[in-house]
Amino acid sequence: DALLEVNNMKKHFHLAGNQTLKAVDGVTFHIKRGETFGLVGESGCGKSTAGRTIIGLYDATEGQVLFDGQDISRLKGKGLKQYSRKIQMVFQDPYASLNPRMTIANIIAEGMDIHGLHRGKARMERVHSLLEAVGLNQEHANRFPHEFSGGQRQRIGIARALAIEPEFIIADEPISALDVSVQAQVVNLFKKLQRELGLTYLFIAHDLAMVKHISDRIGVMYLGKLVEVTTSEMLYSNPQHPYTQSLLSAIPIPDPDVERRRERILLKGEVPSPLAPPSGCPFRTRCPHAMDVCAERMPEMKETEPGHHVACHLYE
Ligand code: SF4
Ligand code: MG
Repeated sequence: DALLEVNNMKKHFHLAGNQTLKAVDGVTFHIKRGETFGLVGESGCGKSTAGRTIIGLYDATEGQVLFDGQDISRLKGKGLKQYSRKIQMVFQDPYASLNPRMTIANIIAEGMDIHGLHRGKARMERVHSLLEAVGLNQEHANRFPHEFSGGQRQRIGIARALAIEPEFIIADEPISALDVSVQAQVVNLFKKLQRELGLTYLFIAHDLAMVKHISDRIGVMYLGKLVEVTTSEMLYSNPQHPYTQSLLSAIPIPDPDVERRRERILLKGEVPSPLAPPSGCPFRTRCPHAMDVCAERMPEMKETEPGHHVACHLYE
C-alpha cells in the first residue's frame, strides 16, 4: 500500500573544478497512502534536495522514484501532467513563495488555471472554499500577500497547494520560519486537512521536535544518507543510531524521570563538507562510538526490530 517508493535515490551535482556534491547519496524509503513521513536532518543534509527530486524539480542521478507504482522518470506528456497534479509542494518561506503583486485569489487559483480546472464562477467558489478550509475567509480573496501575517501566508501557501486536489504534499520546512506560537496551529491544520482529504505527506524539518506530533514514521538523514527509519514512537522511545540519539537529547522533555534518563549528548566538530564526506560511515568523525570498522565500511541499513531500520555497525 505504498503511495511513494524511493529506491536508492541519488542526486549528485557536478560543480566547477571537477567536484561532485553528493547531496542525496542513495536513500531508500516508502510512504504509505494516508501516512505522514517526517524527513529530518541538519541543513545541508540533502532533505530538501530529496523532496525536490521526488517532485520532479530535479532528475535523480541514480535510483528510482515510484509514485503509485509508476516510475516518474518515465512519465511523459499526459502521464507527467497527471503526476504534476497529484503532488504539490508547500515551501518554508511563505512570503518568498507568494507573488506580491497577485491577489490571494489569483495565487490560489494559479494551478487551477494552468490545469484548466474550475473555470468562471466555479473558480471563485473554489477559492472561497479553500480559504475557509485553511482557516481564512472569503474577504481575504482580493487582498495581497503583504497584508497577512507569517502564519496566514503559510495558510495561503497550503490553500494554493490544495487547489488542484493533490494526493500527496511535500512540505519543506513549512513551520521553521513561523513564530513558535503559530507553529502548532499550522501543524494542526496539516493534520485536519489530512483527515478530511485523505492526504499523504512528506514533512521535511531540521528538528525532531517539529515532526514529532505530525509524523507516523520518521527518516533521519545525515550527509546525504538515511541513517535511521522507523515509527515516531520507536524513534522517540528507542533511538538507535548515535546521530538520532544526539538529536533527541537536544529536545527538552517535560517529564523529569525521562529527563534523567536522557542526558544531553554533545557532538564534537562540525558536519563535514558534503564535497568531501568521510570514508565508511558518514557520521564517524563526530560519533562517540566510532570503531575501526566505521572508517573502512559504510554500514548498511539493517532491520533491528520489526519496522526499525538503522545503518550503524553497532547493530551488525
Ligand atoms: Fe558511529 Fe560507527 Fe555507527 Fe557510524 S557506524 S554511527 S561511526 S558506531
Ligand atoms: Mg532546506
